[in-house]
Amino acid sequence: MGKRLMVIGCGGVAGVAIHKCCQNSEVFEELILASRTKSKCDRLAEELTKVSKTKIITRQVDADDASQVEALIKETRPDAVLNLALPYQDLTIMDACLATGTDYIDTANYEPEDITDPAWKKRYEERCEKLGFSAYFDYSWQWDYEERFREAGLTALLGTGFDPGVTSVFAAYAKKHYFDRIDTIDILDCNGGDHGYPFATNFNPEINLREVSAPGSYMEDGKWIEVPAMSIHREYDFAGVGRKDMYLLHHEEIEALGRNMPEVKRIRFFMTFGQSYLTHMKCLENVGMLGTKAIDYEGHKIVPIQFLKALLPDPASLGPRTVGKTNIGCIFTGEKDGKQRSIYIYNVCDHQECYKEVGSQAISYTTGVPAMIGAMLVTQGIWKKPGVFTTDEFDPDPYMEALNKWGLPWQVEEDPTLVP
Ligand code: NDP
Repeated sequence: MGKRLMVIGCGGVAGVAIHKCCQNSEVFEELILASRTKSKCDRLAEELTKVSKTKIITRQVDADDASQVEALIKETRPDAVLNLALPYQDLTIMDACLATGTDYIDTANYEPEDITDPAWKKRYEERCEKLGFSAYFDYSWQWDYEERFREAGLTALLGTGFDPGVTSVFAAYAKKHYFDRIDTIDILDCNGGDHGYPFATNFNPEINLREVSAPGSYMEDGKWIEVPAMSIHREYDFAGVGRKDMYLLHHEEIEALGRNMPEVKRIRFFMTFGQSYLTHMKCLENVGMLGTKAIDYEGHKIVPIQFLKALLPDPASLGPRTVGKTNIGCIFTGEKDGKQRSIYIYNVCDHQECYKEVGSQAISYTTGVPAMIGAMLVTQGIWKKPGVFTTDEFDPDPYMEALNKWGLPWQVEEDPTLVP
């Protein structure tokens, strides 16, 4: 039976997920597109209703206000809500889902917009002290909903983008089919794309810059080890892309995999960056442009990073200009049948191919496709169980099949070059 999905947010990632839902109109019979700026939903609805059987309605919503989301869910009765707004709205949308008995899906874990909020800060400082990583985002806020979702018989699927998302499905797949015991996981995120601008971010600049300017961290023997931002550098030769510099970052799937696969001895995450990106970022950071606290400027309140966002190219506009490929995947080492084994499971995605298909670059594409897949598996009841889960906590096989079918084919390389 066809499903009705509400998508909140209508930016770069949502644009792709909505295109993919419309390609999959047998599953997604109806979509409710709701965002802060309704005209973006209207434009997409107009374009897609010409080419898809999926029926689309559009609404304005401020998802910072749970009661607005709740009213909209009550009015339109979706089978699930796919949150593709910002991590700031995760909790309000989860509250609205709980209040209305609706399943919840997102691609990024909660972080607050205002990191000076005393209630948040107190808990954050306790967590830094207890766990040893200082990123502003973590799963604890959403894992706190576990009992309420379980008791209500609802599913919350967290982090079904590429990383996190597909990378954790790769981990579950490796565990199921390739290893008796996984010892190490290195998640590699390589973007070999070139958009021709001196500086731009591939997804929401505020979220992106907050993530990459934070200290790096990894997990070893169940403990977090934190290092200064960009202080661990490696080079890697990526299939389809070539040699790239990559840097160790803190990333949210380390936390979920560390909890759900405690037998893994070390989990790290690396992302590639060009020198120009790093120089620009350092400069912006040094002059205070990455600040998240409002300053007073000639009688106006201005949040530096939000002002910067207004100056930078909109990630959704990079599509036509970006050429090259991404290669994102995980290197696993461990043991199978008493022998050491290592594999790299990865996807290569071409920016221009994505643009031809859905009018967007590969970063939004590699996030939007898994968002659609997660929503499909939850609404079809294939990935449905009461509680709050990340993507490594379900059977990976239907997800892996869907990746091949919906535009993100993956490969397994035996005995890959390992990252020192
Ligand atoms: P964009 O900034 O392009 O889009 C965000 C959208 O959310 C915009 O349409 C925006 O509205 C809307 N929005 C923001 N605040 C509200 C609100 N209060 N109420 C309703 N709508 C709101 O971001 P992206 O598409 O690049 O990213 C979307 C999400 O995907 C983020 O959470 C990001 O962290 C995540 N992501 C996950 C990845 C993964 O691999 N797991 C990779 C990349 C991104 P408006 O148009 O009015 O500004």
